[in-house]
Amino acid sequence: MGNLLQGKVALITGAARGIGKALALRFAQEGADIAITDLVYNDAMQQTIDEIAAFGTKVKGYASNAADFAETETVVNQVKEDFGHIDVLVNNAGITKDGLMMRMTEAQWDAVLTVNLKSAFNFIHAVTPIMMRQRSGSIISMSSVVGVHGNAGQCNYSASKAGMIGLTKSIAQEIGSRGIRANVLAPGFILTDMTLKLPEEVRAEWCKKIPLRRGGTPEEIADVALFLASDLSSYVTGQVIQIDGGMGM
Ligand code: NAD
Repeated sequence: MGNLLQGKVALITGAARGIGKALALRFAQEGADIAITDLVYNDAMQQTIDEIAAFGTKVKGYASNAADFAETETVVNQVKEDFGHIDVLVNNAGITKDGLMMRMTEAQWDAVLTVNLKSAFNFIHAVTPIMMRQRSGSIISMSSVVGVHGNAGQCNYSASKAGMIGLTKSIAQEIGSRGIRANVLAPGFILTDMTLKLPEEVRAEWCKKIPLRRGGTPEEIADVALFLASDLSSYVTGQVIQIDGGMGM
């Protein structure tokens, strides 16, 4: 237990499991109050809430589709009402619908761009007026190493993750003067439900390309997210931090 986020409220999207959950737990461990969203309020969400509550901080879960603009505005206003302020926003919700360009359907493209990229616009749009009034805030958006380098079979996902970088660098310039920082995390190959659904041989192939020769853990992403969420990074904005075992040098 530390106190790096004591007194702060963190709102994390898509946090019922995986990387988002690891961030929520790490932030709670450092004293933050936690609001998490996910598509549905299911057993996984309840389990995550219970684990966060064990750190003794305030926690609440919200069922919301991050891709829906109006729903996002409603949920952000609810979080503000429930917690009083919002100091950290993490745009984490994301999906994959992989396929080579030649075979990719319009539906695959639209779903991934909407859930991964438009969701970040939705949340940033709703949260910035609150952070501007506070004259402080840290926005963290989850990109990917493939958003920086591209990846065959993931043109939709790579485009959405590259979009996170342009979005972040633009808003970092727009709202830096109001004391709000915005940064991007670009994880490499991290062991979660998203990657465990890949065949074993594909996972082994990925590991061969990684200098540290292994996939990362959600907890290793959470440690860097903690740095960006906290005042330890008070002079860091508009940056992309790759957490990838050296894969994307
Ligand atoms: P995951 O599939 O385990 O978790 C994603 C969470 O987002 C799930 O709980 C899911 O229900 C939720 N979600 C999906 N669509 C949503 C929506 N419309 N509204 C609200 N919530 C929604 O994935 P993960 O591996 O934990 O990934 C988290 C983030 O990290 C994603 O943005 C992903 O693209 C990114 N990322 C993951 C890896 C990796 O290797 N796992 C690498 C780079 C980036």
